[in-house]
Amino acid sequence: MSSYRITLLAGDGIGPEITAVAQKLLEAVAQKHRFGISFDPQPMGGAAIDVCGEPLPASTLEACRSSDAVLLAAIGGPQYDSQPRQKRPESGLLALRAGMELFANLRPVKIVPALIGASTLREEVISGVDLMVVRELTGGIYFGQPKGRVKTDSGEERGFNTMTYSSSEIDRIARVAFDLAVGRQGRLCSVDKANVLDVSQLWRERVDAMAGDYPAVEVSHLYVDNAAMQLVRNPRQFDVLLTGNLFGDILSDEAAMLTGSIGMLPSASLGSDGPGLFEPVHGSAPDIAGQDKANPLAMVLSAAMMLRVGLGQDAAAASLETAVEQVLASGLRTGDLMAEGCTPVGCGAMGEALLAALN
Ligand code: NAD
Repeated sequence: MSSYRITLLAGDGIGPEITAVAQKLLEAVAQKHRFGISFDPQPMGGAAIDVCGEPLPASTLEACRSSDAVLLAAIGGPQYDSQPRQKRPESGLLALRAGMELFANLRPVKIVPALIGASTLREEVISGVDLMVVRELTGGIYFGQPKGRVKTDSGEERGFNTMTYSSSEIDRIARVAFDLAVGRQGRLCSVDKANVLDVSQLWRERVDAMAGDYPAVEVSHLYVDNAAMQLVRNPRQFDVLLTGNLFGDILSDEAAMLTGSIGMLPSASLGSDGPGLFEPVHGSAPDIAGQDKANPLAMVLSAAMMLRVGLGQDAAAASLETAVEQVLASGLRTGDLMAEGCTPVGCGAMGEALLAALN
């Protein structure tokens, strides 16, 4: 029997409430699908600053690195905003991504039929959307050298950054996207700006070269401006969208808003080997923390993503996703998703309903 050790980072704000729901569901789904699962809770973010004076204690990073997968709820809160940058919860998250060498960020966007009215787009445009944005996370213009600000001879100030990718950086992120496409609908669209940027020309060549290794995957390319337009015009055309750091930052937020509800969106960050980090896209929601108002579904869907992408437990992941769909179809809603004719529930009651649906 397989058995997994999960590092659990509940973090701040609504983190502990949604983590409790996810943990109970993971225990139940492990029993149902006959694998072992154990949890190692570690301090992270503001919660770690409170007990150890730093947002990512070395012991937390070590526990993350040596586990099978890491499940993080959310970090941050207004009480830490006045701290120096290295003592802020967000610095802990950046250090965690760097310390685990996570270069690939995956954001699935799937329309849940019961929530179709929550989107700002028309039903016929978004119904059936099921896509995955694969964004390179540790390279490109956010990290490229040289960068900075200089005074020119004429006394003007000039700011500059460098968009740079090496062939190996492109290959490792492209491979993640190709592998995902194989397990999905077999279509990969790579997004670049190859009509203007040299770095994008190299990107496109490397993706085309790798296509030979994946005859079952249909590869296409779009310029980023067209991709942004196509995402709202006809999002159903996409299966896996592969792109660099800057374009992916923008396109993943645009794609996320197709669903219309931040409390529903999971994400994963992966490295070459070693455990992945799975977390909801939303933050710690300090405005509703400790009031049993949080929507735990993005956290539960992150746990499902951990099962599928991180641990290869596809059937268990599908069980969790089906439970989410069933509970929403039955009309239960946390405050953020509330609509006419639905039944309002708190975070804990939503968790209980999910457990009942699972069993
Ligand atoms: P947020 O996502 O925490 O909240 C934005 C709004 O959405 C709030 O009104 C909140 O109540 C609501 N919301 C978010 N998640 C919800 C959920 N699961 N259920 C119901 N409602 C939900 O973003 P913010 O307010 O900009 O940031 C709050 C804190 O979270 C900040 O300290 C920020 O730095 C941090 N943050 C952390 C992460 C992370 O941990 N990855 C991501 C984003 C923001």
